[in-house]
Amino acid sequence: MGNVTLGILKPDCVRKNIQGKVITKIQDAGFKILAMKQIRMTKQQAEGFYAVHKGRPFYEELTKFMSSGPCVPMVLQKDDAVAAFRKTIGATDPKDADPGTVRKEFADSKGENIVHGSDSDENAKVEIAYFFTNSSLIANQ
Ligand code: UDP
Ligand code: MG
Repeated sequence: MGNVTLGILKPDCVRKNIQGKVITKIQDAGFKILAMKQIRMTKQQAEGFYAVHKGRPFYEELTKFMSSGPCVPMVLQKDDAVAAFRKTIGATDPKDADPGTVRKEFADSKGENIVHGSDSDENAKVEIAYFFTNSSLIANQ
């Protein structure tokens, strides 16, 4: 298992101006931030990022939401990072998320759920490369 994952503070997180609170929770869970930036995705970029969900009923709404304002992709490091981060953020729908998780504490709905986390080492690699160059990661070591 790998030691990095991709997290994104989604546009609802930035709109609510709670990036700091969410980042504190992530750091308190033991993650180191290897790289981070605030960007605004175009609709097309959001569609590319979520290409695995193409054809799903929520794809249009999701990609519209993810391109509706700035978001904050970040490369996070911890042992078994993918699983550990998904535990930190909680279930997709905040109603199902465990107490103390980011989504339980801060998310309003299944769609607008504050944060993204990669779901496998393979996808983490692809997703990190979607936002960060190798050289920017090495420069942050
Ligand atoms: N999503 C949604 N409705 C659904 C399932 C997912 O709006 O029924 C959105 C939600 O923002 C979620 C994202 O699509 O975070 C990606 O879905 P996935 O199943 O990969 O959930 P995640 O890995 O983010 O928990
Ligand atoms: Mg997912």
